[in-house]
Amino acid sequence: MTEAVINLSALRTNLGAVRSLAPRSGIVAVIKANAYGHGLLPMARALAPQVGVLALARIEEAIQLRQLGIEQRLLVLSSRPDLEQLRLCASQAIEPVVHDAATARLITRHSFTPALHVWLKIDTGMHRLGVAPAEAAALYRQLQGAPGVVQVTLMTHFASAEDPDTDTTLRQLQCFNRSTSNLRAQCSLANSAAIIQHPDAHRDWVRPGIMLYGANPLGENALPALRPVMTLRSRLLAVRDIGPNEGVGYNHIWHSSCATRIGTVAVGYGDGYPRHARNGTPVLVNGRRAPIAGRVSMDTMTIDLAGHPEARPGDEVVLWGEGLPVNEIAAQAETIAYELLTRVSQRVSYRYVESTPPSSFEK
Ligand SMILES: *Cc1c(COP(=O)(O)O)cnc(C)c1O
Repeated sequence: MTEAVINLSALRTNLGAVRSLAPRSGIVAVIKANAYGHGLLPMARALAPQVGVLALARIEEAIQLRQLGIEQRLLVLSSRPDLEQLRLCASQAIEPVVHDAATARLITRHSFTPALHVWLKIDTGMHRLGVAPAEAAALYRQLQGAPGVVQVTLMTHFASAEDPDTDTTLRQLQCFNRSTSNLRAQCSLANSAAIIQHPDAHRDWVRPGIMLYGANPLGENALPALRPVMTLRSRLLAVRDIGPNEGVGYNHIWHSSCATRIGTVAVGYGDGYPRHARNGTPVLVNGRRAPIAGRVSMDTMTIDLAGHPEARPGDEVVLWGEGLPVNEIAAQAETIAYELLTRVSQRVSYRYVESTPPSSFEK
C-alpha cells in the first residue's frame, strides 16, 4: 500500500548543487544506512559515475556493494577493522578510516597487497571518533611510510556545522589546520551543512549526505533550493462521518470540535512514519493539506478531512516528499529528516523513477 518513490533526476539536481557550491573539490557521496533509506544499490549505481568516492558506515555495506559489482572507490567511515578485515579491505579496494593509534600500529606492522588507501580521522572537537590533534602528524607520517599503505587522506567531522550561532565549526577548522599544517596530504572536512555555509572547509574532498537526498540541513527555506528525492505515499483506506466531541484513535488523544469526516490512511509507524507526529501534522490528500487527527498507529493513521469533501477511499495521500518537505514532518515529530528517511521500513515498496512522481500511482 505504501510506496517510496525515488526520483533519480532530483538526486542529480542536488548533486549539481553540491558541485556548484564546491567546484574545486572532489565529491565523496555518503550512502551509509541504505543510502539514508533510499536503497543502497540503486543510489550507488546512480551516483557512482558522477562522484569520486562512495562512503558507507560499515565494512559489510562496502563488501555488499563490491559483490553487487560496484567498482567505484569505497570509503568506510565508522568501523574499527581488525587484521583480517584490513586484509579484506586491501583485497577489495575498500578504504578504511583509521581513528585510533592502535589501528595505525596494526596497519604499520603488516603488509597489504594491493596496498591500502586509508583515511586518518582527527578529533578536532566532536569527540566521537578520531585521533588527538597532537598525535595526528606523527600518525600520518607513520602510516604514509608503511609498506602496506599507498595513500593517507586526512579528515575530520564537524559537530555543529548547520548552526550559524556557534563558533564551534571555526574552532574545529582552526584546530584541523594547526595540526596538519606541515603535512602535504589531501584533506576532507565538510558534510552537507559545511558545504553550504563554510567554503573554507571544502578543501580536496567534500562529503555530502543529507543534501543529496534533498533535505537542506539549514532548514527548508535556506539556499540552495534542493529537490526531495523520496516521496512517501499511501492511500485512503476508509472515510467516515463523525459528530462533534468524538474521540478518534488510540486513547482518543484527538476530539472533533464539530461534525467532520475522518480519513484512515494505510500508513503507520510499522512503515517508518513517526508515532510521535503531533496532531495537526500535515499530509497531502490529492495534493492538498489535511492534518493528522489522533495517534499514529502501526498500520494506519487518521486525518481530518474537513476541507476535503471530495476525498474517497483509494485516494492518494503523500506523507512527505514532493510538495511536503520531510524537514517539516521531522519538526512536527521532534526529530530530524535523517531519522525519518533512514527509518522507512521493509514493508514499504520502492519505485525508482526518472522524473517527478505522477500525481497518482498505478491502481
Ligand atoms: C554521515 C556523515 C557525513 C554526511 O553528513 P550529512 O550531514 O548527511 O551531509 C559526512 N561525514 C561523516 C564522517 C559522516 O558520518
